[in-house]
Amino acid sequence: MKASVLALLMLPLGLNASPLAIEFRGDLSASEQDKLRHWLEQSADTLSLVSGRFPLEQARITVTPTQRGYGPVPWARVIRSQPEGIHFYVDPSYPARAFHNDWTALHEFSHLLIPYPGDDDIWFSEGLASYYQNLLRGRAGVVSVEQALLDLDAGFQRGERDANRKGRSLRQLSPAMWRTGSYMRVYWSGAAYFMRVDMALREQHNVSLDTVLARFIECCRQQRRSWTARSLIATFDQLADTTLFADHYRQVIDDTAFPELASVYQNLGLERRNGRLKFNPAEEFDQRRQSLFRAPTSSP
Ligand SMILES: [Zn+2]
Repeated sequence: MKASVLALLMLPLGLNASPLAIEFRGDLSASEQDKLRHWLEQSADTLSLVSGRFPLEQARITVTPTQRGYGPVPWARVIRSQPEGIHFYVDPSYPARAFHNDWTALHEFSHLLIPYPGDDDIWFSEGLASYYQNLLRGRAGVVSVEQALLDLDAGFQRGERDANRKGRSLRQLSPAMWRTGSYMRVYWSGAAYFMRVDMALREQHNVSLDTVLARFIECCRQQRRSWTARSLIATFDQLADTTLFADHYRQVIDDTAFPELASVYQNLGLERRNGRLKFNPAEEFDQRRQSLFRAPTSSP
């Protein structure tokens, strides 16, 4: 008895209680519910790799079965009204492995790292989720480090093609994303912004975006106030004691071209030749690539 109480006390906070309040709707068997609960709990654990904890005290997760659409998770959306959470529409006939391999859950869960900055700044929200969706797939071992970087690069290429077609700035296209169908430009420009800042934090300040988000989650995540990209950027810079978030914002927001990634790629030993990503095998580059996919060990 004493030993088990002690063992319980020694568990890091959060491991013994799920941060998810899961509600199943519609027709789902007990075994389907088990399969889905396991997938959701694992996704929440993976998200906790970013800052060492789940970003909310509790998230409300709603799961509705659907026969429409494609894949195990045809559709999902983040709920921003209190209590915050995610509504997943799933095809329960897919096996557990298919849910594990699907990118949707880690994308949606990554949205919960920060509050919603508003429709005008949707690039900031979708950018962070698109960047972390790939980092977390690598960290969780769903894909290899190389594959995660290939997936990021494929996203950036889609974003670049869309940027070339549109020829308008992120500041113009972000509020007009739905009307102009600029999803690729907006999502992947945002991801490129966060990758640039993350690399700069690592190279110049020996911290990372993980560290800044961990500090933000501690101080500010659950404050009841409204945020914009600008106020989040100012807060992140304060927490990191840098001007990097604002500097990179100024560099990308009014540019009609897709954000430049040359120095990020150079730093990571990545080179795109004829649309195909090549990896420089030298130790220093490999180390930097690997470290992006290691969960931070030190506390904020
Ligand atoms: Zn999203």
